[in-house]
Amino acid sequence: ANYSVVLAENRKLHNELQELKGNIRVYCRIRPFLRGQKEKQTVIEYIGENGELVVVNPSKQGKEGRRSFKFNTVYSPASAQAQVYSDIQPLVQSVLDGYNVCIFAYGQTGSGKTYTMTGPDGASEEDWGVNYRALNDLFRISQMRESTFKYEIKVQMMEIYNEQVRDLLSSDANGLAVPEASMFPVNGTADVLDLMDIGLRNRAKGSTAMNERSSRSHSIITIHVQGKDIKSGSSMHSSLHLVDLAGSERVDRSEVTGDRLKEAQHINKSLSALGDVISALAQKNAHIPYRNSKLTQVLQASLGGQAKTLMFVQLNPEIGSYSETMSTLKFAERASGVELGAARSSK
Ligand code: ADP
Repeated sequence: ANYSVVLAENRKLHNELQELKGNIRVYCRIRPFLRGQKEKQTVIEYIGENGELVVVNPSKQGKEGRRSFKFNTVYSPASAQAQVYSDIQPLVQSVLDGYNVCIFAYGQTGSGKTYTMTGPDGASEEDWGVNYRALNDLFRISQMRESTFKYEIKVQMMEIYNEQVRDLLSSDANGLAVPEASMFPVNGTADVLDLMDIGLRNRAKGSTAMNERSSRSHSIITIHVQGKDIKSGSSMHSSLHLVDLAGSERVDRSEVTGDRLKEAQHINKSLSALGDVISALAQKNAHIPYRNSKLTQVLQASLGGQAKTLMFVQLNPEIGSYSETMSTLKFAERASGVELGAARSSK
């Protein structure tokens, strides 16, 4: 697109945008223990201000059992939705300046992916997740720029289940080719809430237990932004993908058969394909293996190049989740382009 980047309103924002250019960022978020939960032992030993995290193996003593990680940010269990959003706000805003952005939530089922992206069930504004806040913000800023820029915002919602893409905003929600997924113009928050409602209802359709089903599919909300510079007439198109990934937990092959096994294999395949793509991008490889899964195919145009990627890596703090926590962290470490090294000391 022939489009001159809108000058950021202030220096701070401008600097933040510079810093975000072409980057893959990994933000780790640890969910709190849940209300009523009795067992409160954790494997998280240390959370540093500079994105450091130390995890302890509950069955090993001393230095041996400690592993440290470093990400762009680590959020403690006490972090609020508003705080998390304010950190990623510049990234969301950059979509209005013509950048493609993908925001993912990765982690085992129950680690807070949906909480971060959507918020808890029946959330008040204070508890809103990234999805609502991002859309609200895009409207607010696009209106502020109205005298110089004309924006049009459209939304698509899809689900990928067993390598099949389903349109969540259509009534005949069967498998479909991606560009055909219904696209709806939105003119404000009320429209967004309505659409999300429809999408969530369609997601539940055809499955007896919605939570079970949704933890085994990827959901993708795509916000298309079309902008026109009123003075010069030049135009741009960019998009924001908000992706709540299927649960990353390993399924014990000896315990599942039939549909469950098939689901587990599809999830495995697509999450490792995503990991491969992101780590190839982080290492600036010449070949990026987009073709290996539906998920990476759907997102291809928005991963790589000038596009920006942010991954929320969600952790369940409980001791019983130790091995899932470690495999989540290793995925995250690989995605951020950091070589897996030998165990480092905790400080
Ligand atoms: P996932 O989408 O990874 O399966 P959920 O988002 O459903 O996990 O979170 C599991 C449970 O933990 C839910 O009851 C959710 O409300 C709660 N939860 C997750 N993260 C937080 C948080 N940061 N603060 C408070 N409750 C949380």
